[in-house]
Amino acid sequence: MLHLALLTMTLAASQTLEREVNRTVDEFLFQLLLTPTHHAVIISDYVPEGAAVLHVVNTAGEDTALFMFERGLFLELTRRERRVLIGHEVGHLAPQCQHLWDRISRELCADAVSLKLVPAEDVSAMLSKSIRMFPYYPARQEFVIRFAMVQGARPVNREVKPTVVRSAGSSPDDWMDCA
Ligand SMILES: [Zn+2]
Repeated sequence: MLHLALLTMTLAASQTLEREVNRTVDEFLFQLLLTPTHHAVIISDYVPEGAAVLHVVNTAGEDTALFMFERGLFLELTRRERRVLIGHEVGHLAPQCQHLWDRISRELCADAVSLKLVPAEDVSAMLSKSIRMFPYYPARQEFVIRFAMVQGARPVNREVKPTVVRSAGSSPDDWMDCA
């Protein structure tokens, strides 16, 4: 009986998680005005790198976006942290993030887009947590570069004098146009 109760609780928790993730994906797609023909969310026990998005366009021009998230990882994160990860994966679908040549450019692009969906402070906090969670090369180096970009994209506190003078128009969007 106890086992049954525990099983029911676990099932209820995973249904709640699935509902939350599905809603957040829908919310972010809507906010970015992205309308894939089909999209689905899969939460499974193992997803390489914890989260991924697969985007496929068929010959008829219909596209399918498949969002994959690792259950164990998601249950360890707070709701705000999950929103950051979901925002990043949805960000990969933005037109300017498609067809970028190298991986780091795609990652930075998805982060830049995610800043329209979640607070920059939350993205910074999540990236800094990731640097601590994945201390091995090359993931760590990638997180450090991404963290630096998001920090650079945050408004400069007027009371703190910047040590480096920013050139006019050096917003992350300008940077992305160069990529
Ligand atoms: Zn990514």
